[in-house]
Amino acid sequence: MSPRPESALAWIGLGGNLGEPRSAMSMALDQLNNDEEIELEAVSSFYRTAPIGITDQPDFINSVARLRTTYQPEALLEKLLAVEANLGRVRSEQQFGPRVLDLDLLLFDQVQMDTARLTLPHPRMHLRRFVLEPLYELEGEMTLPGGRGLSDCLEQVRGQSAVREHSAKSAG
Ligand code: ADP
Ligand code: MG
Repeated sequence: MSPRPESALAWIGLGGNLGEPRSAMSMALDQLNNDEEIELEAVSSFYRTAPIGITDQPDFINSVARLRTTYQPEALLEKLLAVEANLGRVRSEQQFGPRVLDLDLLLFDQVQMDTARLTLPHPRMHLRRFVLEPLYELEGEMTLPGGRGLSDCLEQVRGQSAVREHSAKSAG
């Protein structure tokens, strides 16, 4: 079913570094797209990133997807957390430690909010090349909520590694 006219655009960040992160991410995208309130519009390539902080763990694989959705932001976050749980993420894992699958809500139209459950834009997205690079691959230059340009944010994180692998769609 195609989304109703009052739909919003949302960008989500996908990541993982345990097991088969690429297949966990593909399954997550399928589960999201199977929800009648969500239409998957575009998926970036996969990017390989050396872990920050706890460095004694496998490299992370990350990508960004653009969704069209009729959910409100909080409901979309609930959906993301449910998909994480379905695919085996254990919530007690250390923050920034290894995980099967992490789904973050990066942007929801131009919404800016900060509640106990949800902060938009995602509070750390502008610090992470592995988020900004795939977002730029999908959208090119864009103005983030608050008025900053995406390419301006990217300039600040050029020192970080984020190696582009191949298209998530062709990964099978
Ligand atoms: P991280 O992704 O920073 O490593 P977690 O995934 O463990 O951390 O944190 C998830 C929690 O962060 C969720 O329970 C959620 O309520 C909260 N949160 C707040 N804003 C966001 C957002 N924009 N995207 C995802 N989770 C968010
Ligand atoms: Mg998360």
